[in-house]
Amino acid sequence: MSMTAPSDVGVMNPNDRLDVLCAELEELSGQRNAIDGRIVQIVAELNSAELWGLTGARSLKAFVAWKLGMAESTAQTVTAIVDRFEEFPRCNADMREGRLSLDQVGVIAKRAGAESDEHYAQLASVATVNQLNTAIKLEPRPEAEKPEPKRSFSKHTRDGFTTYRITVPTIEAAKVDASLKSHHEALINEYKRDNPESAARDAGQEARDGQAKETHDAQDDTSGRRPFPNLTDAFMRMVETAWDAEATRRPHGQHTTVIVHLDADKLAAWLHGGPYLSDADRQYLLCDTSCEVWLERRGQVIGAGRNTRVINRRLRRALEYRDPVCAVPGCGATRGLHAHHIRHWEDGGLTELDNLVLVCPHHHRLHHRGLISISGTADKLIVTDAAGRRLQPGSLARPPTRPPPAVPPWQGPLGERADWWWYDPYEPPPVNNN
Ligand SMILES: [Zn+2]
Ligand SMILES: [Zn+2]
Repeated sequence: MSMTAPSDVGVMNPNDRLDVLCAELEELSGQRNAIDGRIVQIVAELNSAELWGLTGARSLKAFVAWKLGMAESTAQTVTAIVDRFEEFPRCNADMREGRLSLDQVGVIAKRAGAESDEHYAQLASVATVNQLNTAIKLEPRPEAEKPEPKRSFSKHTRDGFTTYRITVPTIEAAKVDASLKSHHEALINEYKRDNPESAARDAGQEARDGQAKETHDAQDDTSGRRPFPNLTDAFMRMVETAWDAEATRRPHGQHTTVIVHLDADKLAAWLHGGPYLSDADRQYLLCDTSCEVWLERRGQVIGAGRNTRVINRRLRRALEYRDPVCAVPGCGATRGLHAHHIRHWEDGGLTELDNLVLVCPHHHRLHHRGLISISGTADKLIVTDAAGRRLQPGSLARPPTRPPPAVPPWQGPLGERADWWWYDPYEPPPVNNN
């Protein structure tokens, strides 16, 4: 490899200098492709043997982003290639030989049709990432692949009002309609009972509007009486009845709190009206301070748990200030963090800053299932994987000790304007229905 000495700069004319720099870029690009190709190959092996799971990472993508110091999007490209590694042997081999880049192979692995390895390996030798994208979009997609609209629920709040958008299949929509209609009718009946004289007039108006539109509003009605019930009222009635039903179904009207019974002598715990908990689940639930604990001895409730287990708002804020992210190295989760007692609460661990760390629900569960261990004190935390190896923050990158891959320089895609009319899109082979 020829490193260009900075002393050349002064004596060279700009064109020559450009040539020198580009030659070095070509060499480095080839090497980088080859290195990326080998990285993908290694990650594919880690994936097939599920070795990455031993590190406590939440997913292969998270592992790659963490260990290689990559952006999530780049890590996603790597895992997309790994997911279809066996399907694109030629593209992957070309990358290892420095002839295709990670992004080129990535765009193919993300969206190209089945058995298209040869086709796209050839095209990628001249096409840019954008051109590959266009080519893949030209693939005829079988009818069945058209994405069905998915069931969805979204919410948008503006100016003090919230708009919900719910998408459900027609059959479920029929249920919504029927339920809305019955609540609407119930509301109308109540209304008629309360306002016998105006009910007839309003009902006639409603019929003329065809579909009951949301025209009634408190502002429309200056008479001070309750406006004629519309579909929004019917919807809210539906929600309130359902909510009431759900709250009465729960013991003691608890809306959100989980209740855990804990036998003070045997250290056995079970959910209220539910099954016994494993040791791991018990410790996990008792650590997560949002649940309510009922201490029992020989079937009698003797107290509501040690008060100190509960983290007050000030302590929680102090924790969040100290640990803005999950304490497990490389995780970086910032939302929904749990306060974990480093020395478990039931072993006498105190609920104070030194004995608490914030961890994400995933790592919290992993810890209580024994897959990672969290020890030390909050400021000198030691997190190890299942084999007792310490998890280190940051990437695995270090100065190389081996020579770079011996591959020829890479000039990259031609980058010429593509004339798509002569391009034959890849056609998947006909499906054999035998
Ligand atoms: Zn915990
Ligand atoms: Zn985490």
